[in-house]
Amino acid sequence: MQHNKNEIDRRRTFAIISHPDAGKTTITEKLLLFGGAIQQAGEVRARKAARHATSDWMEMEKQRGISVTSSVMKFTYQDFEINLLDTPGHNDFSEDTYRVLTAVDSGLMVIDSVKGVESQTKKLLEVCRLRHTPIMTFINKLDREGREPLELIDEIESVLDIQCAPMTWPIGMGKRFRGTYHLYTKEITFFDPEADRGTGQILTVKGLDDPRLDELLGSQVEELRHDIELIEGVAHPFEQEAYLAGLQTPVFFGSAINTFGVQQLLDTFVEHAPSPLPREATTRLVSPYEESFSGFVFKIQANMDPAHRDRIAFFRICSGKFTRGMKVKHLRLGRDFQIANATIFMAQDRTNVDEAFPGDIIGIHNHGTIKIGDTFTQGEDLKFTGIPNFAPEHFRKVRLLDPMKSKALEKGLVQLAEEGTTQVFRAQMGADWIVGAVGLLQFDVVMHRLEHEYKVKATYEPASYVTARWVAGDKKTLEDFQKKEAMHCYVDGEGNLAYLAGSQWRLDNTMENWKNLEFHSTREHN
Ligand code: GDP
Repeated sequence: MQHNKNEIDRRRTFAIISHPDAGKTTITEKLLLFGGAIQQAGEVRARKAARHATSDWMEMEKQRGISVTSSVMKFTYQDFEINLLDTPGHNDFSEDTYRVLTAVDSGLMVIDSVKGVESQTKKLLEVCRLRHTPIMTFINKLDREGREPLELIDEIESVLDIQCAPMTWPIGMGKRFRGTYHLYTKEITFFDPEADRGTGQILTVKGLDDPRLDELLGSQVEELRHDIELIEGVAHPFEQEAYLAGLQTPVFFGSAINTFGVQQLLDTFVEHAPSPLPREATTRLVSPYEESFSGFVFKIQANMDPAHRDRIAFFRICSGKFTRGMKVKHLRLGRDFQIANATIFMAQDRTNVDEAFPGDIIGIHNHGTIKIGDTFTQGEDLKFTGIPNFAPEHFRKVRLLDPMKSKALEKGLVQLAEEGTTQVFRAQMGADWIVGAVGLLQFDVVMHRLEHEYKVKATYEPASYVTARWVAGDKKTLEDFQKKEAMHCYVDGEGNLAYLAGSQWRLDNTMENWKNLEFHSTREHN
């Protein structure tokens, strides 16, 4: 038990949330460098490039092994064991991206100083909100002419509705970027693009009146003094409690490509970010320090060989200790299950795992017996909550080319939906199948896999929907609703009633007309 406690306390499990191009890959790479997990910058990018070199799914499929390994990157830093979970962006943005956020204990938000808060960041932060996930912020690309730092802070506070606590403050930007001043240690870290890790001299000053500053910063010192006076007057001081409650985000400034500010961030991260947190389950809250093993599946990925329909379930350990070959209870199926070969994802490669602790992610091979949201315990009948489906944002109608194959089509669509990157809706009236996804690439993936794994030829037709809601309420009102809104009522892969709307206005209107019903944008797994 005591042994477990040390293992748990030194674990940090987090994900990076950002908009494409803000610098997620660059920061990941630098973090792995500090963790000694990679030897040179460029390795993560090379793997990512291999994955994104083509949007052709055939090619992507060959790369699937790679995308599995980079889903979780485990590395050590000082005494800490860090699990960095990848949030797929760009083309492979999908529901998985959202769901990964339900498996972490904290997040790192990366903002491009030139562009400010962007749409994908906003969406991802909304998902973090559902669980009050603590967020640290890194404002990146200070080596470029970006927006005014104060303006960026204001934007984060107003658009994302989270209090900012600046930890460092930049001295100039772009060509005039000289480094940062740390508001708490009173250190100035000089930016030196020529230096190995971007970090030049570090100077601890005794207050901003220190005459050495005039010498080193020249004309920029007045600007800094003015900024800091202002910031110390108006900005929120860092409060650990507020950060842990997800109400406040500590903010760092830097330039990831120059490795500037990254170590500062990492040092604060390991010190302040939460170790594995208790998790909500149907019957009670489960503490990571409990002796009994438990955890849940948040992602399913088809394995390399499509012919075998082998899948890897990504499993987050919530309590106890995992040991190789251990027997667990698969709650949904109500039967025992031996985890014979689990994989742990090191940043470099994947290896068989002998033991793992709360906060760790293990990969479990299976042939479709495991679904997203499944809980395994050592016998206790509980189910972890908060691993939902998210309402799709894109829709396509499926047209079957060979009418004899309608059973195979159904099976394929439902099984692929079980992997969780797409959802499937069957029309209440007629026989239409609608595929819904959070990211567009998933549509190609579904078609390709229908053809190759299920031998079904189909095409897409446009579907005039933009959003979906799961509907709940009392039986009588629901029946009424299904009659009056029959054209827009669908049943999802697990048999739940969903309402698909052609516009946001239409949805608002329907919700207004059916005040006694609940319209949910997420849905827990059965
Ligand atoms: P991702 O899409 O969020 O993973 O972003 P990347 O890490 O791939 O970075 C996007 C682009 O921004 C790349 O061309 C990077 O070289 C560049 N970039 C990343 N960090 C910095 C930085 O600190 N300064 C500048 N000027 N460019 C950067």
